[in-house]
Amino acid sequence: MNKTIQLRAIETVTDTTMPPGQQVRLARNILDPLTEVGLSELRADVRTAYVAGHPRFRCPGCNEPLFVAQNPASANTPRDGRGAHFKHHANVDAPPCRKRTAANLHDIGAVKFPGLGEGADHSNLKHMLAFCLSQDPNVTDIEVERQIRALDGSWRQPDVSFVLDGQAVAVDVQLAAASLATILERGTFYAANKIRHIWVTDTADLDRLSQLAFRDSYLNMGGRIFALDADVVAACVEQSRFQLWELSIMPRLAPPLPLHNVWERDVVDQETILMDPAARKAEGQKRYRRSLASQVGQHFGPQRASMRAALAEGKPLEWMRPEWTTIARQIKGRDIDTAITQGVGAVLAWLYAAEAYASCAEPTARPVALAAMHQATATVLTIRNAKDWAPLVETVCTMSPPVQAALTPDHRDQLNTLLTTAEPTTSVIRNHAQMLSVLFPWVAFKLLVKAPKFGPSINRRNSH
Ligand SMILES: [Zn+2]
Repeated sequence: MNKTIQLRAIETVTDTTMPPGQQVRLARNILDPLTEVGLSELRADVRTAYVAGHPRFRCPGCNEPLFVAQNPASANTPRDGRGAHFKHHANVDAPPCRKRTAANLHDIGAVKFPGLGEGADHSNLKHMLAFCLSQDPNVTDIEVERQIRALDGSWRQPDVSFVLDGQAVAVDVQLAAASLATILERGTFYAANKIRHIWVTDTADLDRLSQLAFRDSYLNMGGRIFALDADVVAACVEQSRFQLWELSIMPRLAPPLPLHNVWERDVVDQETILMDPAARKAEGQKRYRRSLASQVGQHFGPQRASMRAALAEGKPLEWMRPEWTTIARQIKGRDIDTAITQGVGAVLAWLYAAEAYASCAEPTARPVALAAMHQATATVLTIRNAKDWAPLVETVCTMSPPVQAALTPDHRDQLNTLLTTAEPTTSVIRNHAQMLSVLFPWVAFKLLVKAPKFGPSINRRNSH
């Protein structure tokens, strides 16, 4: 805890996405509510904006751009936003700033992890991959470490490159340090040159997948990452077809355990391997949502239906006490009295109204759905601890353009005021993430997804 405080030398930041006059925000209010997915997304957004020349966050002291760094890993360091801090970019020409701290390799995820020499090494994996490709008669131009040059003269050297069905593909083998900057700039380079780019890891040491460099890859890719091992090499040879493992994070609802994440794995072929990255990401999030909805249906179908019926009728949370209690007991969610005290009733009503409005296809019903959403928004933005829930409202707005567009200018103002409060917020979103996800599986990917504790060999995909 002390360590976090000490790393958070930058306590306030200028958020350039907020309206002028409302740009100063508490670092802890931005970072602490972030889930693992939220942190990876923010890191990627901040990096992208920085590269594009309009940094999202600046230091109020020296006005230099800031990035979101991860605290050095330790057993007690949360991997979500609570374990992150703002930091200046290394820049010898920058004006002096007393908030500037020394560069630290951990911050950018560029630390070699111990034990990497074991298992398939980098060169081994590259050649294994080229061998797999050579088994597929549809694959041509297989090259190891060939330079790819763009028209502007810039170049990259992927570990392996090939052509499959007319599509050029570049593969980088990721066994260790790939910084977020590398991941993003390679994605941009290859997309600009119409080359599909994928990362492939091995399956020897899955603990490693919880490290920052890997989380930045798969949390921004719908929870999915490709992998190669001897089993899949054998499958390529047997079927004369290029295939890979794909590891995917999926939800697991197994009372009395809390709702948690597991790695599932499938052998995938070119349809998945050549998929457009945005489509692959969206599909991963959709699979997660569907799997959770189906498991919730199996375990808590009647309770969930009854709670949603109560929400449709505008009933208060107290009305849902039996159902809430049944579900919360089985997944170790918070009790209903805590939920009521922490304003969950207004949040459920808002999520329900936002969902109803966003999914309302009937033109004549839209004004009614919009009015209901305006009312629910007015409530959720004025409850006693509205500032604690504001990041969730913001997240949902980012996820759903119709919800975003339906905010009135007054609501937007109120939301900005809450997001820029000078008072510290508390972690109500995290407290109730499981229950909110059970009721609204479409927020679950954002709220729940994190690096699973166990490798995929323990959990195989089943029929749900
Ligand atoms: Zn500064």
